[in-house]
Amino acid sequence: MICLTLAETRIERALQHVVDCQNDIDICELRVDYLLKHNIDAIAQFPASLFDQGCGVKSIMTIRRVEDGGRYRGAEQERLALLRNILEQGNNTTPFQYVDLELDIRGGDEEQKICTLAQEQNITIIRSVHDFSPKSIDLSSLLEQVTADRREIGKVAVSAKSLTDVCEAIEQLQTFRSCKKNSGVRVIAIAMGEYGQILRILAKRLGIYCTYCSVPKTEEVAPGQLDPVVLNRLYNYHDINTQTKLFAIVGNPIAHSKSPQFHNRLFHDRKKNACYLPIKCDTLPALSRLSSLLPLAGFSVTLPHKVDIVRRLDEADNDVRAAGACNTVIVRQGKWHGYNTDLYGFEQPLFDQGILKRSAIRRGKALIIGAGGVARTVCASLLRHGYEICVMNRSEKRMRDLVSELRAQYPQAAIHAVALSPNASSQIQLFNELIIQTTSVGMEPKETDDPIPFYSFSGHEVVYDLIYTPARTVVLERAERAGCTVINGEGMFVAQAEKQSERFFDIARY
Ligand code: NDP
Repeated sequence: MICLTLAETRIERALQHVVDCQNDIDICELRVDYLLKHNIDAIAQFPASLFDQGCGVKSIMTIRRVEDGGRYRGAEQERLALLRNILEQGNNTTPFQYVDLELDIRGGDEEQKICTLAQEQNITIIRSVHDFSPKSIDLSSLLEQVTADRREIGKVAVSAKSLTDVCEAIEQLQTFRSCKKNSGVRVIAIAMGEYGQILRILAKRLGIYCTYCSVPKTEEVAPGQLDPVVLNRLYNYHDINTQTKLFAIVGNPIAHSKSPQFHNRLFHDRKKNACYLPIKCDTLPALSRLSSLLPLAGFSVTLPHKVDIVRRLDEADNDVRAAGACNTVIVRQGKWHGYNTDLYGFEQPLFDQGILKRSAIRRGKALIIGAGGVARTVCASLLRHGYEICVMNRSEKRMRDLVSELRAQYPQAAIHAVALSPNASSQIQLFNELIIQTTSVGMEPKETDDPIPFYSFSGHEVVYDLIYTPARTVVLERAERAGCTVINGEGMFVAQAEKQSERFFDIARY
């Protein structure tokens, strides 16, 4: 089930959000700790007001303390009294279907009274615990504690500070669920933070009772929360089952990527039981663990992992070997098969503009700004097309490593290297026929940055910036204003993703 968290200062606005999102949610959680006035009558009336508005959405009442990530700062006795008063009012109207009570208050006098009131009104208790400590993930023992009373739903939120933490949470959840098979235990497990987003998207498949989300186009209430429209319509939350083939984009950062929109739309149009997830990934060993835990059927690789992943492949295609970088992995019987569709994608806009010729070698000069994963692919392509190239990068070591690898691989080619610095303007002029911008400088959220602010365009350059968010980077805008031919990363993105999706479809057959 999808639960919308209502973090509003006014109850009317909270109600309006439920009305607006009702087609994408099953439950809503009224966070009383966010309300400006604790008008007990109006709060107790909230479920009845939903009914009056024609919303068949169930509701949870929560008063979250500051130490648990909420906003309630009053004395604990007052908070419990407020909880009790609201439930007492519910006796005369449609009550909340759920009330959230923390694990540490279990057994107190006031808590007992609240539980009795809840039982009388058939309200289910969500027994919650929030663990923000930087220690290792301890989901299993917390799950044991919050599910001690089988009538209650146990909820544990831990913070995931790495992909390893997420793996740990999934592993512990899976073990807990298999030990409690057929016991009727209901659990909500949350790994807070962007790393833990996959748990939110795959909640139903992982046997989690419900997933919490934030009101669309507002700040997330808890770190990593998605909005219900994205969960429901982009990720098809309700359709993800154990047969669903899982694919992903793996990188860091990941929020800017359009790949989930691209691949999920194609899976949906072609009626594939497949879902494409965003996975924020800090280390490749953690990815390897996650890939077998879920398991993943295939994934796209983005910065900064395109080069390092090559060493972890069980097999690599010709383009991966030519470029020394991989952006597509298909998992067959646990083995990672790597492909490079960036090379194909990079060339398509240049063929379209007549800058590269499919059947002829083009003996031109090109400047490549950047020496990361995608720069290797760009260099390999241009060298194969007969270009003399110059690589320019901030980190000189990375640049020299790349250039010496390229020289070893393409001994006949003319390959130069120049450090990216304000003194490099004259060097750029020597190679300015075709300038390929492959760094992440200028990409959202740092879209005001320019990798070569010191260089003035003459207007004769062809400038190809591989970034596609934003569609026009600062450097591309400058080049366009000077009269240059400009190409952004959109065409490459679409071409490489289409090629990638052919591979994904191969294994996403019903
Ligand atoms: P990597 O992390 O492998 O490389 C990043 C590159 O950016 C390095 O050369 C790095 O230099 C440079 N860089 C980062 N920050 C700065 C800075 N502040 N100043 C100067 N240089 C900097 O990333 P990828 O090669 O995988 O991707 C790079 C870009 O290409 C991304 O923006 C990505 O979105 C885009 N891309 C677009 C694709 C498309 O389909 N259109 C496909 C693939 C990538 P240093 O070595 O000094 O750290």
